[in-house]
Amino acid sequence: MPRSHSTHHHPPHADDAEPFTLEGLTESLRSKGLRMTGNRRAILQVLLQAEEPLGLEQIQSEAVRYARGGETPDFATVFRMMALLEELKLARKVNLGRASSFFELADSRHHRDHLVCTDCGTVTPLEESCPVETLERQIARKHGYTQVTHSLEFFGRCGDCSTGSPS
Ligand SMILES: [Zn+2]
Ligand SMILES: [Zn+2]
Repeated sequence: MPRSHSTHHHPPHADDAEPFTLEGLTESLRSKGLRMTGNRRAILQVLLQAEEPLGLEQIQSEAVRYARGGETPDFATVFRMMALLEELKLARKVNLGRASSFFELADSRHHRDHLVCTDCGTVTPLEESCPVETLERQIARKHGYTQVTHSLEFFGRCGDCSTGSPS
């Protein structure tokens, strides 16, 4: 099967052998000596399906869909899991200009920048190719960094929130 043409960037030195799949993430956790519990699996499935950065409450409520045997993660479990994934560089926080934290998997091949409505909080992943991809590579080269990533959010008021109110 021919590989689909992709414009997603690969960091020059990233080890992409272990993709961001349920199997790959499970393997990453196991290699750190962490047990794959039903709750952890459910949280990973939520993150893998996510189209936009998710808050802890959202992750918790969506994890119910993947839970098996009546076991669903409580808030503290989600909190600890996300802290763990962040520490392992498997997930990252996305700044949406709000007090609470939002997370996405740190998968550079599915990198998306975001447009955020400051009124209703709607997050739109941008379909456009990343505007700072070239800059990111230049910065990495100039400073001798590898595995450089970024998070880029544009803020404004969405069409619904702008309608009927003076801006
Ligand atoms: Zn809005
Ligand atoms: Zn970007």
